[in-house]
Amino acid sequence: MYNVKSLKAEEFIDDEEILETLAYADANKNNVELIDSIIAKAKETKGLTHREASVLLACDIPEKNEEIFKLAEEIKKEFYGNRIVLFAPLYLSNYCINGCTYCPYHGKNKTIPRVKLTQEQIRQEVIALQDMGHKRLAIEAGEDPVNNPIEYILESIKTIYSIKHKNGAIRRVNVNIAATTVENYRKLHEAGIGTYILFQETYHKESYEQLHPTGPKHDYAYHTEAMDRAMEGGIDDVGLGVLFGLDKYRYEFAGLLMHAEHLEAVHGVGPHTISVPRLCPADDIDVDEFDNTISDDIFAKIVACIRIAVPYTGMIVSTRESQKTRERVLHLGISQISGGSRTSVGGYTTEERPEDTTQFDVSDRRSLDEVMKWLIDMDYVPSFCTACYREGRTGDRFMALCKAKQIQNCCLPNALMTLKEYLEDYASEETKAAGLKLIEKNIPDVTNPKAKETLELRLKKIEEGERDFRF
Ligand code: SAM
Repeated sequence: MYNVKSLKAEEFIDDEEILETLAYADANKNNVELIDSIIAKAKETKGLTHREASVLLACDIPEKNEEIFKLAEEIKKEFYGNRIVLFAPLYLSNYCINGCTYCPYHGKNKTIPRVKLTQEQIRQEVIALQDMGHKRLAIEAGEDPVNNPIEYILESIKTIYSIKHKNGAIRRVNVNIAATTVENYRKLHEAGIGTYILFQETYHKESYEQLHPTGPKHDYAYHTEAMDRAMEGGIDDVGLGVLFGLDKYRYEFAGLLMHAEHLEAVHGVGPHTISVPRLCPADDIDVDEFDNTISDDIFAKIVACIRIAVPYTGMIVSTRESQKTRERVLHLGISQISGGSRTSVGGYTTEERPEDTTQFDVSDRRSLDEVMKWLIDMDYVPSFCTACYREGRTGDRFMALCKAKQIQNCCLPNALMTLKEYLEDYASEETKAAGLKLIEKNIPDVTNPKAKETLELRLKKIEEGERDFRF
């Protein structure tokens, strides 16, 4: 029985409720009156239920779809302005004992070399990432209690935070590791992580079990209830996601929103971010063997509908997507992207692009500087801001800032200051010139006179060599 507040996976992600939602969405996909009322509700920017959002996703009336896309763009602008936060993944180890049928790190893959970084190698990788200009990382590892125990992850986080190379610093480490215990989540929290990210892969229990035939990840309930344990362990910011292509996208979409509703109902705060990865080709993975892959148009519609349904939740798109696709979805609601990424263990310190340990093939292969220039040319403000988390504005405290619409006086100045740091320390001449113009153009948008004055002073100080200011 569906119960949003239940702590049992099969009750808060109730299969029957999803099937009824999909039937309701199908029955109403041409119901103009209902669709208009849902769009009107969405305009109040307080979000939509999974049923309402599923009707919009199913809707195939071209004019209504245009309204949905337009509204997604408006909500994106209202809540996130023109800022795009940048991060990079850092692969620590590809040892894994799971049997995920879509991931080349699965335990039975004998062709992929297994690599686990030492603390010294992590140091070198982090220095390379700092030299690119990154301030925010997402660490990734396979699940292997012997090779990658929690102590290894904790030690690695400590190493990452400790490295101060030139003006570089990693100021926020997000963590994407397998579902674990409350005790381990507490340790991660105490180590000062940002967001704990765990993709559900698929919300469809039967498919989930088939796609994860062996290893600890096979346990659907343990995986699906991981965010509740993370929150119990003190982690306020959690990141959801499904791997689109594994099961039917409408099912996943409804499940994703039900999961968000569950976190809000039980813990008083929804997910900090939602990621929208799509299945990619990889070492021994043939995407053609999966028959639920989605088109670029459907992908864009999913992003727009998530943006409308959960306006306060950040949305992430990685370099799995091409420049063209990323450009399209940025407008529709994406607030964070990765740039200059390597998805192989040790990939940032190897001269040539090492293909042998990559987790999936990257589509967007541009350098971080190229990504920065591209964003600036489109009038986006690339941001390396990590202020909220470092000021303790996590969970509902971050949501309160969003809801009070203080983003223009807080997030925008922080974005401009971190952009200025990047331009001073790491940018090519071309990017620097374009970026400085962009900063000047955006200063007037800081509406609070005191904040504007402080911002201008700090920008000058950054030019003179000071670093790490924040609002
Ligand atoms: N091992 C951890 C776990 O099981 O949650 C997390 C790390 S894994 C490196 C990060 C994510 O990459 C997975 O959750 C999965 O969604 C995604 N992934 C795996 N294989 C992929 C593929 N072939 N294409 C795109 N994404 C993939």
